[in-house]
Amino acid sequence: MKKIEHIGIAVKKLSVSIPLFEKLLDTPCYKTEAVESEQVNTAFFEKGESKIELIEAYAPGSVINKFIEKKGEGLHHIAFEVEDIDAEIKRLVEEGFTLINENPKEGADNKMVCFLHPKDTNGVLIELVMEKK
Ligand code: ZN
Repeated sequence: MKKIEHIGIAVKKLSVSIPLFEKLLDTPCYKTEAVESEQVNTAFFEKGESKIELIEAYAPGSVINKFIEKKGEGLHHIAFEVEDIDAEIKRLVEEGFTLINENPKEGADNKMVCFLHPKDTNGVLIELVMEKK
């Protein structure tokens, strides 16, 4: 793993949270993008090396809706950038971690992504991200 690539925050409404984070970070949102596999809309902010991803459900069945129903808005996941996602998945499975998706899938922001089950990571949802080449 190279570094924390972004932190994901679950929100009810991007229309409310984008202006809020623009004020907080004093920087404009540089991208919004729908991710169909997760039924979510995302919005990205960049400060130095770090990014914040706001995530809003656009369908009732979205995992983000279920998350907000259970826990409310807030910190959803931490994403680590990896050089080779297949090699990193193999390493983590050998170390005993459980994957939510066995194969990397298309994520937002031109990335291939994979999630680790929070039951093995002290309750923190971990995302691996690799820049698509
Ligand atoms: Zn993410």
